[in-house]
Amino acid sequence: MNEIIGADLRPSKIVCVGRNYVDHAKELGNEVPKAPLLFLKAPSSLITNGDAIVIPHQSQQVEHEAELAIVIAKQCKDLRDDDDVKEYIKGFTCLNDVTARDIQRADVQFTRGKSFDTFCPIGPHIVSDLDAADLAVTCRINGEVRQSGRTSQMVFSPTYLIRYISRQMTLLPNDVIATGTPAGVSKLAAGDVCEVEIEGIGILSNPVKSARD
Ligand code: ZN
Repeated sequence: MNEIIGADLRPSKIVCVGRNYVDHAKELGNEVPKAPLLFLKAPSSLITNGDAIVIPHQSQQVEHEAELAIVIAKQCKDLRDDDDVKEYIKGFTCLNDVTARDIQRADVQFTRGKSFDTFCPIGPHIVSDLDAADLAVTCRINGEVRQSGRTSQMVFSPTYLIRYISRQMTLLPNDVIATGTPAGVSKLAAGDVCEVEIEGIGILSNPVKSARD
């Protein structure tokens, strides 16, 4: 069953995982973490397929991050290693963890650089009954491939992440988990079209514009 994602998704939180692909951690000069590195994006940053990513005047370096996203089906807390996580997954979708890299670096912690309005394109729909173990994750700018990875390259799998996150905070229906990005992040410019494609899900396409336009 595929469900179109619209503005009515309204997650209580968007939980993101940093440095979950070895090659991306290296390209930014970071170590691979021993446990999942979690941060939050403001739910108000969420947009859907076709909406414009707006480059804020505060940043000179806004980058795309193509990611597999998990949408939560029902409340979960403190899942054990032997709990089946499937019943807690509504489905999977594409997500672009848009990041003001200069602000992220300057602030050290991630909140501002990750949470500008429009910085979380998600969609085009939620696909349930998908085996997410080894899916191609691709990002194209104006048709040119910038990121190309596979979900099998994740350091921590979707199943591991749901269990781990549920032990830190209660996950609620429609909460979103962004599972990290492969190598190849690059800068977005006004006039670009950024596409995130995940095998078995589809293409999330968003034009880019400047806040000055
Ligand atoms: Zn990310």
